Amino acid sequence: MVEGTKNGCIFCDIIEEKAPCGKIYEDELSLAILDINPFSKGHCLVIPKRHVPWWHELSEEENASLFRVAKIVAEKMMNALNPDFVCMYARGRRIPHTHIFLVPTYSGDVLDRFFNAMELFQESPPKLAALREKNSMEDVAELLRKT
Ligand SMILES: [Zn+2]
Repeated sequence: MVEGTKNGCIFCDIIEEKAPCGKIYEDELSLAILDINPFSKGHCLVIPKRHVPWWHELSEEENASLFRVAKIVAEKMMNALNPDFVCMYARGRRIPHTHIFLVPTYSGDVLDRFFNAMELFQESPPKLAALREKNSMEDVAELLRKT
């Protein structure tokens, strides 16, 4: 653990105001900040104020707050920056404190090209094609429903 850093987590430090951030909006449970490595102008992160590694581990209240704040910030982006739309995704592999990416997206920009390439890739490899077969789709749907 780095001294002065809670769990070595930069987002916890930001929430505790031990590290600077470009705060855009917050409520009781969530905080929206500018990403310091933006994909496009105005790219934000929405993070829960509690240290939660994965988004699916959030409480009902945190989940509702996170998506409410994401919507408010996306509307701010649409009004202020006029993108085609606001891309939302959550991964969380790099910083283990869940965060939603909100990226103002324009046709042909870096993220748009990345996702277009990924969608083409999604349709190509035989291993992924096998996942689209009817039996495979029915098997996984049954597996997810009964869990
Ligand atoms: Zn944290």
